[in-house]
Amino acid sequence: THFGFETIAEQLKEQRVGAVFSSVASSYDAMNDFMSLGIHRLWKDHFVRNLNPGCNPLTSSSKQGMNILDIAGGTGDIAFRMLEHASTINHDAHTRVTVADINPDMLAEGKKRALQTPYARSSRLKFVEANAEKLDMIPDSSVDLYTVAFGIRNFTHKDAAIREAFRVLKPGGVFACLEFSKVNNSLFDAVYKRWSFGAIPLIGQLVAGDRDSYQYLVESIERFPSQTEFRDMIQEAGFLVPGQGWEDLTGGIAAIHKGVKP
Ligand code: SAM
Repeated sequence: THFGFETIAEQLKEQRVGAVFSSVASSYDAMNDFMSLGIHRLWKDHFVRNLNPGCNPLTSSSKQGMNILDIAGGTGDIAFRMLEHASTINHDAHTRVTVADINPDMLAEGKKRALQTPYARSSRLKFVEANAEKLDMIPDSSVDLYTVAFGIRNFTHKDAAIREAFRVLKPGGVFACLEFSKVNNSLFDAVYKRWSFGAIPLIGQLVAGDRDSYQYLVESIERFPSQTEFRDMIQEAGFLVPGQGWEDLTGGIAAIHKGVKP
């Protein structure tokens, strides 16, 4: 705001994030596997299983399924799992997922991957280019479940994105975020920091020929708010949070935060 410096810094951040994800789009699986030692797959499975997407026709009155919005959905990792869960666990053939991402290269990777799933040509899966901070194409109170996995730490205005989530969710709708978080044991934290700051940029350089992007990703994890700070941000946007508001995964390397729109 002062002399427009903040705006320029914000624009630079958006460009930087865009360049990082364009650069890593094709090595994306490798990136996640290296950053989490492959554990991100288990976290994502747990995230989706726990949300239990879909409406079981035997136990639910809804015959239309859920309208799910997966923000920063990039390569479709969460969306495919949710459709699979809805279909096979809840026998729900109607639940649909819109994958929204700001980066066309990540969306292109997701569309390519969708071809290996049964949902590529179905109306249950849609990809849209959108900024999480301004979801003008999504009407108020229209979404049952809003998910964001390993995306929100890259947003310039996290609070604006959470407010948009609140706006688009129906009353009773759920905001669910899976993100890297703060390790809660100091010894484990020391080992983890050595790993992330020491090894990850080096592996990025060796595997993807791109040290800077991996360095950015490690730093963005470090800068992200703690579990309690992030829970407070969710509450400030108007959400009710169940219990303490989050679940730690692998000692807090990642955490799932949830909020319900009253
Ligand atoms: N959700 C996927 C997963 O868990 O595998 C992809 C996560 S990837 C680490 C982060 C994604 O956030 C990238 O695809 C990036 O383009 C997207 N992103 C960054 N800023 C965004 C914004 N403001 N709005 C929407 N997507 C954004």
